[in-house]
Amino acid sequence: MSNTLLQLNDLTKKYGSLTAVNKLSLTLSKGKVYGLLGPNGSGKSTTLGMVLNVINPTSGTFQWYDGNLTTHEALKKIGAIIERPNFYPYMSALQNLTLICKIKKCSTDAIEELLRLVNLWDRKNSKFSTFSLGMKQRLAIAAALVNKPDLLILDEPTNGLDPEGIHQIRKLILTIAELGTTILLASHLLDEVEKVCTDVIVLKNGVKYYEGAVDGLSQTHGYFEIATENNKQLLSFLGAHSAIGEISKENQYYKATLTKDLSTAIFSKEIQEAGILLTHFSKKQPSLESQFLSLTQTK
Ligand code: ADP
Ligand code: MG
Repeated sequence: MSNTLLQLNDLTKKYGSLTAVNKLSLTLSKGKVYGLLGPNGSGKSTTLGMVLNVINPTSGTFQWYDGNLTTHEALKKIGAIIERPNFYPYMSALQNLTLICKIKKCSTDAIEELLRLVNLWDRKNSKFSTFSLGMKQRLAIAAALVNKPDLLILDEPTNGLDPEGIHQIRKLILTIAELGTTILLASHLLDEVEKVCTDVIVLKNGVKYYEGAVDGLSQTHGYFEIATENNKQLLSFLGAHSAIGEISKENQYYKATLTKDLSTAIFSKEIQEAGILLTHFSKKQPSLESQFLSLTQTK
């Protein structure tokens, strides 16, 4: 059995002249927690809408389960929350979940376990209308799990919650992942994706800028901050150096980005041997935040 749950091939959505999702290709495998990370308007919800069959793609394709199931069949094995939770306000948590099980033709046996999982068992008999937004969101997660899905899709599940509510949802997502459900979490919050996800897809203007391990986002070789009295000499030295990629000027310093590992000791010796007099020299590692911004700001 293949581990591939979902594959996107050049998936594109245009709204008139606006391209909301632009030739997006990616693969989701079982057992991971994926973050779909990007600023507001980057195409996260549109992407989720397409794979959930509520938005028609303009071009490109997607396949669930290596194409072994039709989208309609596959979606029975997926749980998704892409809108604000909506339940019957005058019915209790228990009554709402029981109704959902009947609609989805699922067994009601797991309801107690699910309500305990989302920490609402004590409130099972309270009306939905009396719930806080965080509790409503947790009930929605329980409802999305009634069919024991292979993949749980969540679109900005912590939006609008207070810090305690945010913490509870993130903890719950981690617990669900530990229990073996693959997760796809759309978020505009870098720290949320860092805290919760194993893998990340970075989107901006519908274009994918990064796909890979969350750790990989922070694994760069860093850069040197340099100033000299002879910039021309420095620039020709840097331009010819095999370990230096991009060179830019920030404030009074040149920023020389490393494309491979290079120690401060060796690099400073090389500069000295080239006869360049330094007035400033420092090795830096960009923060995850600034890397995310540079991934999504430029181009
Ligand atoms: P995100 O979820 O990352 O915030 P969306 O997928 O909601 O981004 O939106 C991506 C882009 O598509 C935005 O520029 C948004 O304004 C536009 N968009 C989304 N839905 C529609 C629509 N129904 N009609 C026109 N433009 C839309
Ligand atoms: Mg959105």
